[in-house]
Amino acid sequence: MELKIYNSLSGEKEIFKPIHENNVGMYVCGPTVYSNVHLGNVRTFMSFDFIYRSLVHLGYKVRYVRNITDAGHLTDDGDVDNDRFVKQSRLEKLEPMEIVQKYTVDFHKVLDTFNLLPPTIEPTATGHILEQIELTQKLIEKGFAYESNGSVYFDVLEYNSRGLNYGELSRRNIEELFANTRDLDGQNEKKNPQDFALWKAASPAHIMRWNSPWGEGFPGWHLECTAMSTKYLGEKFDIHGGGMDLKFPHHECEVAQGKACNGTEPVNYWLHANMLTMNGQRMSKSTGNYILPMELVSGNNDFFEKPFHPAIVRFNFLQAHYRSVLDISNEAMVASEKGFQRLMEAMKLLSGFGFLTSDSSTFDISVWKEKCYAALTDDFNSPILISHLFEAVNFIFKLKDGKETITETELKQLQDIMSGFVYDVLGLQNIEENNNEKLDQTLQVLIELRNQARKSKNFDLSDQIRDRLLAEGIELKDGREGTTYSLN
Ligand code: AMP
Ligand code: ZN
Repeated sequence: MELKIYNSLSGEKEIFKPIHENNVGMYVCGPTVYSNVHLGNVRTFMSFDFIYRSLVHLGYKVRYVRNITDAGHLTDDGDVDNDRFVKQSRLEKLEPMEIVQKYTVDFHKVLDTFNLLPPTIEPTATGHILEQIELTQKLIEKGFAYESNGSVYFDVLEYNSRGLNYGELSRRNIEELFANTRDLDGQNEKKNPQDFALWKAASPAHIMRWNSPWGEGFPGWHLECTAMSTKYLGEKFDIHGGGMDLKFPHHECEVAQGKACNGTEPVNYWLHANMLTMNGQRMSKSTGNYILPMELVSGNNDFFEKPFHPAIVRFNFLQAHYRSVLDISNEAMVASEKGFQRLMEAMKLLSGFGFLTSDSSTFDISVWKEKCYAALTDDFNSPILISHLFEAVNFIFKLKDGKETITETELKQLQDIMSGFVYDVLGLQNIEENNNEKLDQTLQVLIELRNQARKSKNFDLSDQIRDRLLAEGIELKDGREGTTYSLN
């Protein structure tokens, strides 16, 4: 079955043809790790997690690169006060790299909670300063960039004068762009307001700085992604993804940098995931209209009536197509919870039907399977896929009630297809299985309390904790790396 993908570059659904047969190179813009990711960010990363899982399921070998932006993402091209990392480090009284570490750890923890798979390569911007300097040099040599006061800017007019069409991805008309922009303060070192920074000179107050041929400075955000995608996926690769809001200017600038450097479109398929809204407004840290993922899971918020398990949040997100806006609400979450429970009940029933043999069913599994794949390969249409999965769910309940029959071979087929879609492609997890996590957290607390007891020489208590756990079949083992446990 052919895979069709909506390509933002052409504005059309296209048949997907990877550059190297059966292999896919995919780059997704990662987070700027200067604060906690909000639920909106999670939606975008989950959309691409679903796309990644789908590609793998369809048999592609995927090199999936998602970066960490740990330097250089300014609110605009202005002064040091616009550096998010420096700003946050002042607020929290931490080193910028402590900020980076803190929120990278948080990011991974959150994505893990929602069962997102890690990318196959996760490069950081600060780990690729040399590559960014080299790219900047190349752009200067080719006449696409110029130095000004120790900063280097991409020359948009020059690029356009060579017929390269700045604005092709976001369908913006360059004349209008120029007409609508005033020259803002601090931007007069640029030839034109549309020019964007490849390298920024660091003011004395700017702590995050590196040596370069133009003096000490730091890289521009757009260049980071070009440097890292080129390094790991080549000058031209298959898929580039990110949230819709990154299309302009970030992705437009990536296209320009790639074309200016190598003379070819850097990306064959541009994919843009749509926004999560709350109260009809885009979720965003800056407006205060946001909720943190863990606040939704713990119930510690004023918006939802109760906590929701991460698997239910995941199910709710995937009930919308990645290119549609999704407005999060209590009612929708409650409805998703009901649907999720019914789906999981069906999965449990399905695995329990091990020895069931009967007449052939009226449910045509191969036709149904075909429909599921048609949805998946139609621009990763998760809501339609889920609706087909529920046809099987209804059938499974009929089987349970003895209103339907199925042969052993058909049952095996149904089990395989359902678990492939539910667990591998949608990445849903059975909530019961997740109780292991709770047990682990509880045991970590007990281990910590036991350590505290030992430190204060309360050996009665520490032995009691160990012995009573052992009586329950949980053995604590003290080793050089600390205490671990095994369940007997
Ligand atoms: P940032 O760390 O700001 O670069 O954002 C990380 C990702 O989250 C980007 O791909 C953004 O497009 C995406 N994003 C930001 N806000 C939202 C939102 N409200 N809904 C969905 N995705 C978002
Ligand atoms: Zn990017």
